[in-house]
Amino acid sequence: MKIFCIGRNYAKHAKEMNSDVPTSPMFFMKPDTAILRPGTPFFYPDFSKDIHFECEIVVKINRVGKNIAEKFAHKYYDEIGLGIDFTARDLQKQCKEKGHPWEVAKAFEGSAPISKEFVAKSSLDLENLEFSLFQNGERVQLGNTADMIFSIDQLIAHLSKFNTLKKGDLIYTGTPEGVGPIAIGDELIGKIGEREMFKVRVK
Ligand code: ZN
Repeated sequence: MKIFCIGRNYAKHAKEMNSDVPTSPMFFMKPDTAILRPGTPFFYPDFSKDIHFECEIVVKINRVGKNIAEKFAHKYYDEIGLGIDFTARDLQKQCKEKGHPWEVAKAFEGSAPISKEFVAKSSLDLENLEFSLFQNGERVQLGNTADMIFSIDQLIAHLSKFNTLKKGDLIYTGTPEGVGPIAIGDELIGKIGEREMFKVRVK
C-alpha cells in the first residue's frame, strides 16, 4: 500500500508557508508504517520539537490504474476519509534550506493518522466539502475542497503518470491554512461536515 501526499494544494496554506502556488501538483510519499491506526495514540517523537498538524481529505483508491485520464479518474475511488499529515516543521525547514528530501520530516512512524471510517463519495459533494480539525475543543483548521488548487481527479491523473495506483493506496490531498504545533496531552478531532472522523491523543 502506498501513501501519496500532496503539498501546497490550497493557496492560503502555500502563502502561510511562504511558498509559491505550484503550477502542477507537488507530491511526496510516506511508507505504510506511517499510518496511525484509529484509536492509537500518537507518541511525540524525540527527534523533533515542532510537530505540526495538517488536516487533509484522504482518497482511497479502489482499483489498479496507470496513466489515468482525468475524465476517468472518478472511477478509481468510491470512498473519502480524513487524516493528518504530521510534519516535523523544524526538520522540514532544515531540509528546505539544504535542498534535502523531506522524508525525515514527513514519513516517520505514526505521521499519518487516518479515519476509521471512509464515507461513500456518492453521499458527499466533493466540489464543496467542508472539513475541520479541533485541537482540545478549539477549531484550528477549516477547509473546503472548493479551495483545492488541483481537484482529486487531476491529482489521480498526475500521480498515475509516475506510478501504478493500486487498490488501497491513499492520497492525502493537501492541507488548508491554519496548520500549527501539537503538544503532549493534546486531543485532535477531525470532522467532515459535522461527522466526527477521527480522534487522536498525543502522548
Ligand atoms: Zn500535508
